[in-house]
Amino acid sequence: MSDLRDALDKNLIDGKLVASSGGATFETLNPATEEVLGVAADGTAADMDAAIDAARRAFDSDVANWTTDAAFRARCLRQLRDAMQAHSDELRELTIAEVGAPRFLTTLAQLDAPVEDLGYLADLAESYDGWKVDLGEAVPAGIPSHRWILREPAGVVGAITPWNFPHQINLAKIGPALAAGCTAVLKPAPDTPWAAAALAHLVATETEIPPGVLNVVNSSDHALGATLSSDPRVDLVSFTGSTATGRKVMASAAETLKKVFLELGGKSAFIILDDADLGSAASLAAFTACTHAGQGCAITTRLLVPRARYDEAVDATAATMTALAPGDPNEAGTICGPVISARQRDRIEEYLRLAVEEGGSFAVGGGRPADKERGFFIEPTLVTGLDNSARVAREEIFGPVLTIIPHDGDDDAVRIANDSPYGLSGAVHSGDLERGWAVARRVRTGTMGINGGIWYGGDVPFGGYKASGIGREMGVAGFEEYLETKSVAEPA
Ligand code: NAD
Repeated sequence: MSDLRDALDKNLIDGKLVASSGGATFETLNPATEEVLGVAADGTAADMDAAIDAARRAFDSDVANWTTDAAFRARCLRQLRDAMQAHSDELRELTIAEVGAPRFLTTLAQLDAPVEDLGYLADLAESYDGWKVDLGEAVPAGIPSHRWILREPAGVVGAITPWNFPHQINLAKIGPALAAGCTAVLKPAPDTPWAAAALAHLVATETEIPPGVLNVVNSSDHALGATLSSDPRVDLVSFTGSTATGRKVMASAAETLKKVFLELGGKSAFIILDDADLGSAASLAAFTACTHAGQGCAITTRLLVPRARYDEAVDATAATMTALAPGDPNEAGTICGPVISARQRDRIEEYLRLAVEEGGSFAVGGGRPADKERGFFIEPTLVTGLDNSARVAREEIFGPVLTIIPHDGDDDAVRIANDSPYGLSGAVHSGDLERGWAVARRVRTGTMGINGGIWYGGDVPFGGYKASGIGREMGVAGFEEYLETKSVAEPA
């Protein structure tokens, strides 16, 4: 078995693991210790050009019947799953070190779950019943005709990903793109290049995925992402990251009329109704807000509680947040690790200053933990005394910061939840399941959990309403994002 750690300074272009054409590398850090872990290839514009060219040629030449042989693609995806599982110990340690991901999360969405989901996608490629649908006969314009609908791969995919769940997001784009018969160029975030470099290495050394089908270009230069959205050789751009960058991607993709898939920010509401078990619901809200130091787009970061029980809710939430002090992500019990970078910590601290400026106060947290001299840590923070008009209640902070807001009943809670530019996720807790369902239906978001139900899964579509994005990732809907539709008729 190959040793992954020695192989992470390469890009994958046209089936070859290559150094940057400029010869340069850039460092990747451990956010918990600030130590340099090693280097990644610092891809150039010429590397991106070569990667797009390779993906285009592989698609147009239907290399090894890639675009048409679903059984072959399924075999390749299973090989990739098996390779990642065979290397799971190494990948786990790399993920904890590079992402600062708490160890417990690597057994879930940070690593094991998306790797397992490659098997689901392989099964889907083989069993999908939409490849050729017989619509039967009709007589349009007096001509008896037999009609079919074909689904075909969309072409060359440009995948641009962020740093917070790198394996999950890389695989949630590459997996369905490959299952659908597309070819792809992956441009990962510069903060977590090794997650993608490991993927590239395993694709090249342990799968039959043909040259050019998957290309991976790490770079410290964000402009290489912009190339994917503007280059006419790319048919579809699939982006996850901030809403600000998502807007740029969409504007740039308009020039060449690409399909766009956007999975963007969120400011999701966790609603506690007046008949809920307040203590346990508040504790779950606190746990969610602290997980991975709040660096998840679907994390609920506004806690809406009955006005009459606001103080009680503050106490219950603060108690759990205090217990979830930031810790070493290596330790099995750590829920809240570091944030990814000094830049990200600075950005969160700006929001904490803003919360005070806006008239808020902190029931717990509000800065860096006193016991951590190194590492990019922020204390779990509960912001009180603000309403939903505050910027800290409207903007994505991407840190362990929860704003608690009073509501005056179910209608008011729904109004506040929906009074957001975003619509990604949410949660509702009620003693009455039907009442929970009624609220869940009225909140305009792509996912909702009722009374602690977890919607995350490889077969569950995920994505946002409003400024949270366009399209759905995962599940059959996520697979179909990477397909085109062709209608065909012959004389009946
Ligand atoms: P970002 O949106 O700037 O970057 C995400 C990816 O886009 C990276 O791979 C980056 O290289 C690439 N990119 C940057 N500029 C681009 C452009 N013009 N065209 C195409 N690609 C481009 O996110 P960030 O700077 O890493 O983080 C900033 C904020 O984004 C965070 O604080 C957080 O609020 C938010 N964020 C959201 C998510 C999410 O899943 N919704 C994930 C990460 C970050």
